[in-house]
Amino acid sequence: MRVLFAAAEIFPFAKSGGLADIAYALPKALSAEAEVTAVMPLYRFIEKERYGIRATGERFTIGFGTEAYDVEIFVGMREGAEVVFVYNPLLCDRDYLYGPPGEGYDDNDLRFAIFCHALVELAKKHSFDLLHLNDWHTAPAAVLVHDAGLRVKTLFTIHNLAYQGVFEPTSLKRTGIAKRHFNMEECEFYGSVNWMKCGIAHADAVTTVSPSYAVEIQEPEYGCGLDGFLRKQKEKLVGILNGVDTSVFDPSNDPAIPARYGIGCLEGKRICKESFMRDVDIDKYELPLFVFIGRFTEQKGIELIIEAAGELAKRPALFSILGEGDPGYLNKLQGLCDRYDVIKVHFGYDEALSHRMYAAADFLLMPSRFEPCGLNQMIAMRYGAVPIVHAVGGLRDTVHPIDSSVDMCGLGFLFENMDSSALLECVDRAIALYAKKTVLERIREFNMECDFSIDRCAAHYLELYRSLL
Ligand code: ADP
Repeated sequence: MRVLFAAAEIFPFAKSGGLADIAYALPKALSAEAEVTAVMPLYRFIEKERYGIRATGERFTIGFGTEAYDVEIFVGMREGAEVVFVYNPLLCDRDYLYGPPGEGYDDNDLRFAIFCHALVELAKKHSFDLLHLNDWHTAPAAVLVHDAGLRVKTLFTIHNLAYQGVFEPTSLKRTGIAKRHFNMEECEFYGSVNWMKCGIAHADAVTTVSPSYAVEIQEPEYGCGLDGFLRKQKEKLVGILNGVDTSVFDPSNDPAIPARYGIGCLEGKRICKESFMRDVDIDKYELPLFVFIGRFTEQKGIELIIEAAGELAKRPALFSILGEGDPGYLNKLQGLCDRYDVIKVHFGYDEALSHRMYAAADFLLMPSRFEPCGLNQMIAMRYGAVPIVHAVGGLRDTVHPIDSSVDMCGLGFLFENMDSSALLECVDRAIALYAKKTVLERIREFNMECDFSIDRCAAHYLELYRSLL
């Protein structure tokens, strides 16, 4: 079985969120059982020398719309797994993946159309059996591959339905998508072209990144305008819970944290917390530390933390936030930092700092409005931080109430109503739990032992691949 696994971002080469983590970990985990080649664009900012990325000598020209585009293929190795890179100047020579923070480049349709057409060419030339496409950037390949007459199966994974790749109808021609597909059952969406819809319509199977999200997106509240269409496609829709790469996120062997620790010896976690608190200039080690790590967008529910800040600051607790995103949130968060000593905000994207924060944290705040899967809560649990989450999507599938009668994998605090008082109530319960050291330690260790591994997730994908071929 030969699989071409395509994504717009793969860790560590380019990452804006969880897609990159999965696109790195899943092909690696699958490679024990199938021949999986991961492929992504070779963005200008990827350091070729650092990763040993070299030209393969393979070049081709793809023609669509009224233009022809030259493509060059590169290859790199990452922990024994091969990653293929597609280079074309229009696609790759940019400072950002999709556009400056909060914006998208105007020609993203053309950029990623080049990537999609290149995928079809690679599938043809190298006889792949299955094309595993991820999110809207790769979605049109599902239709292009069939229009090219290839007998390649396609699997499309929805990592986040909120980003669909919606373009003007004039985009059809310049991206080389045949006009006959512009109809309600395929890629038309309120008069525009919708790439996500196109991928869902044409793929042989469609997955979401958690079982709950597969159900939720068929409802108007979470369907982002595609719920009716998804209900029609539900026979081929299945939810497979993402996992984390347990070798990257491993407190017993993580070079980014100041002390290692594991089940049965949590002393290192205390050292990590003290060291982090010193770094942020807080000396109240005895107080519980709550962290938030993620994009500052509406999805992640950061406004709940902003709304609750005045109350949070009155609690015997410390709060540390890491992220980047919408300028409106940045201003408000800066205001909180200025006003409250116990709230610290780190602006930017910092992989190593995120590891130090997971290791230092007692609790993770994840009040996402919606969450296709979410990796933070699983990472946090591996590092012994107890999650506080809005009961939605993948958060519902991975975090179960601490006081539930059955020990489900894992345990934390959930709130149903998306409002700041519900969040505050959970924070208060967490502070009460913090006082019960032995109970807290038992919960930490229980969560650290839960199997959120990518191997479990890979086994499900493998089964699905086999059923398609
Ligand atoms: P998303 O919706 O952004 O994909 P996920 O929970 O699926 O959210 O994945 C987020 C991933 O990105 C996690 O590995 C998280 O630790 C990481 N991350 C998010 N924001 C930052 C940041 N500012 N700095 C470092 N890592 C971050």
